[in-house]
Amino acid sequence: MRQRFGIGYDSHVFVNDRPLVLAGVTVDYPKGLKGHSDGDAITHAVIDALLGAAAMGDIGRLFPDTDDRWKNAKSIHLLEDVRRRVSAAGYTIINVDVSVIVERPKLAPYVEPMRENLARALGISASAVSVKAKTNEKMDSVGRGKGLQVFAVASLGGA
Ligand code: MG
Repeated sequence: MRQRFGIGYDSHVFVNDRPLVLAGVTVDYPKGLKGHSDGDAITHAVIDALLGAAAMGDIGRLFPDTDDRWKNAKSIHLLEDVRRRVSAAGYTIINVDVSVIVERPKLAPYVEPMRENLARALGISASAVSVKAKTNEKMDSVGRGKGLQVFAVASLGGA
């Protein structure tokens, strides 16, 4: 079996009066992430990692933010759609690894439900999904709490 890798990246700015949704989990925090969809940056980065591994474009091409169909969309449903596209192209998802860089809130209590949500959307075991959170040591705009950044890597087998 041939193995392929893809990288995904996303960043979003915090805004007031929006729920904070990450990997489909609502995190208890007074701010949420600005975005056309629900702003779920973890799910967006995972989508781009999968599309990258399959060389099937990127999230902006599949779900353009000029299209009202995706306004306030639940990103975890977009991930399910991408999983179907990747499977239809003959790939199996081997594993996904995520690093979230955010100063606040602390995401440790949410990591397990995030892994389970992503695993369910991807149709793989939670043991094949990793989510890690760390701070930026107060450096730069992320360190000052302006927003967050996410890196994701996915590996696919087959095709
Ligand atoms: Mg995004």
